[in-house]
Amino acid sequence: MHAMVLKKVGTALEWTDLADRQPGAGQIRVKVAACGVCRTDLHVVDGELPDPKVPIIPGHEIVGRIDAIGTGVEGLRLGERVGVPWVGYTCGVCPYCRGGQENLCDRPLFTGYTRDGGFATATIADARYAFPLGEVGRDQALAPLLCAGLIGWRSLAIAGAGKKLGLYGFGAAAHIVAQVARWQGRSVCAFTRPGDGAAQAFARRLGAAWAGGSDEMPPEPLDAAIIFATAGDLVPLALRAVRKGGRVVCAGIHMSGIPTFPYRLLWEERQLVSVANLTRQDGIDFLRLAPTIGIVTQTTPYPLNQANQALADLRAGRFEGAAVLVV
Ligand SMILES: [Zn+2]
Ligand SMILES: [Zn+2]
Repeated sequence: MHAMVLKKVGTALEWTDLADRQPGAGQIRVKVAACGVCRTDLHVVDGELPDPKVPIIPGHEIVGRIDAIGTGVEGLRLGERVGVPWVGYTCGVCPYCRGGQENLCDRPLFTGYTRDGGFATATIADARYAFPLGEVGRDQALAPLLCAGLIGWRSLAIAGAGKKLGLYGFGAAAHIVAQVARWQGRSVCAFTRPGDGAAQAFARRLGAAWAGGSDEMPPEPLDAAIIFATAGDLVPLALRAVRKGGRVVCAGIHMSGIPTFPYRLLWEERQLVSVANLTRQDGIDFLRLAPTIGIVTQTTPYPLNQANQALADLRAGRFEGAAVLVV
């Protein structure tokens, strides 16, 4: 197999030939067809997340077909198309796993961070964390659903049922969430970098009722806001934009420092929460519903050996929607 490998944090990924790997008990081998490039991959490469497994093959929005099955795997078959997400393993026995919060597992493994991911021609996955994708939709179009879509889905659920939703940062996740929110009958306000007319136009094309800079106030107070961007400065801005009792959800795995803000922004039962990872049920629910919602992802393809370029373009904001490595 071939892979783009991060050998040292802070350096470029290197094209590497590796011996084929065999799936162990409870595992499958997936021949990768497409793998989305997520901002979390940048955090891994940049060393912004603690204790990555190095060397590591990044990538946790994997779409591919099963080409080997380990012992004890049930319900999956050779040739089946599956998606492999960020959460790659949970222990099943810690208090969080037992309590229905496996997304907070004490001993998890994360695809592309603490276990090898999908910037490769093949990957080994825990069969419990491989979601059947069916045959509707192209590999490249489905890849962003595995993280941007799934984290967005969980964030949307945690934001509550309010009709007026704000999205701060209009990248891969928000462009999917906006479509889901519209399908649920919500009204979406999209907040981008001030002056980013292209991103605002992109948001309006995807059904946003209003789009403006993050320094602007929405036309009406929001029921809830989800922050996908990594700037902690957005937290007080989002709190300012939600109504009494409203909720602000931080959806990113990493954020810059949150500045101090006047208590009155939190007063009146406004809530500030974060969303971490996903449960298998999130994956099953969302991926089952995705074809019905008719989500259209906007993707920019790169060959596997151009992964460094894809990361650089993501960092610089050179495309709308999501970058996907096509293997
Ligand atoms: Zn656990
Ligand atoms: Zn991700």
